[in-house]
Amino acid sequence: MLPSLPMRSARSRGVIERYRAFLSLSETMPVISLGEGSTPLLHSPRLSDIVGRGCEVYIKYEGLNPTCSFKDRGMTLAVSKAVERGAGIVVCASTGNTSASAAAYAARAGIRCAVVLPAGKIASGKMVQAIAYGATIVAINGNFDDALRIVRELGGREDFAIVNSINPDRIAGQKTAAFEVVDELGDAPAAHLLTLGNAGNISAYWAGYSEYHTAEKCSRRPAMLGFQAAGAAPVFHGRVIENPETVASAIRIGNPASWETAVAALRDSDGAVDVVTDQEMLSAQRWLAAKEGIFVEPASAAPIAGLFKICDATRASRYRRDQIQDGTALVCTVTGHGLKDPDIVLQEAAAITPIPADTDEVLRALSF
Ligand SMILES: *Cc1c(COP(=O)(O)O)cnc(C)c1O
Repeated sequence: MLPSLPMRSARSRGVIERYRAFLSLSETMPVISLGEGSTPLLHSPRLSDIVGRGCEVYIKYEGLNPTCSFKDRGMTLAVSKAVERGAGIVVCASTGNTSASAAAYAARAGIRCAVVLPAGKIASGKMVQAIAYGATIVAINGNFDDALRIVRELGGREDFAIVNSINPDRIAGQKTAAFEVVDELGDAPAAHLLTLGNAGNISAYWAGYSEYHTAEKCSRRPAMLGFQAAGAAPVFHGRVIENPETVASAIRIGNPASWETAVAALRDSDGAVDVVTDQEMLSAQRWLAAKEGIFVEPASAAPIAGLFKICDATRASRYRRDQIQDGTALVCTVTGHGLKDPDIVLQEAAAITPIPADTDEVLRALSF
């Protein structure tokens, strides 16, 4: 039982306690939470200036979740349900944020976590969290599809719970981000921009906005604008991409699990899907960190790069600047923290050459 702390903040309670009325759960389900959700919705004065005409741009900073990505919103629900069913181990095929989140929530629940991976893909810096949280990492001689097939087969066993994005509890938990946006803004924004990989998150936001609209918590639903990496853009091209290529590992996906629901969300919201190049993502990542103090991983910068593209009259964009009404609010979700992938920034950094230990020398180095 939780100790009764009457002043527990929304953050400390986590998304299940905060939004229980919208999640259709049994009263007896144990709640496995690390205080996810209730992330900042930061106003961006500089992006607002770029969009202009009285529009206000807000950043939903999902890198501030417990394992530093939005995956925690779905994982709290997936692991809580797994424990309720009596599963003793959660399993996933992931080299990235899903494994980090699964491992943390399994640790919190006191059950095991297994991460099944193709051999050779294990060096990724992102695995550091799964290792620290005590997950068992299993390398197989096969590719990612083999890993996913094995995970699906294991998920059929009673003691195993699969927590890859095909688990519908993940999407249900991720809806809470849309609820938070409406609760904070007082209504839904005119447009919601986000990165699109397996397409679970865009589907979850749309479901969240739609449920809140039905409950009359907001007067409208936003246009959903999804952005894919140019080299990994199956939804944009309308076909499976056999060998997806992008620096943004979180969206290096050629055949999204939630493809159909994402297409429905894009259509029903009068939204659009567009592509941004790796270079545009990396520039937007640097811009957001240096101009607004918000450091995100490359995949998370896709909606920022996408907003730049929309506002650049010289670019052919699937969504046009004149489709955004004057004086409206736009929200960009940034999905994961920049420290997830530090190498990408350090690769481009200039070498730092030492100078004499002298204040005048330091002032000179600072160009004063
Ligand atoms: C998982 C992930 C994505 C992709 O989200 P989907 O729901 O698969 O579209 C994007 N960015 C980050 C940081 C992620 O961890």
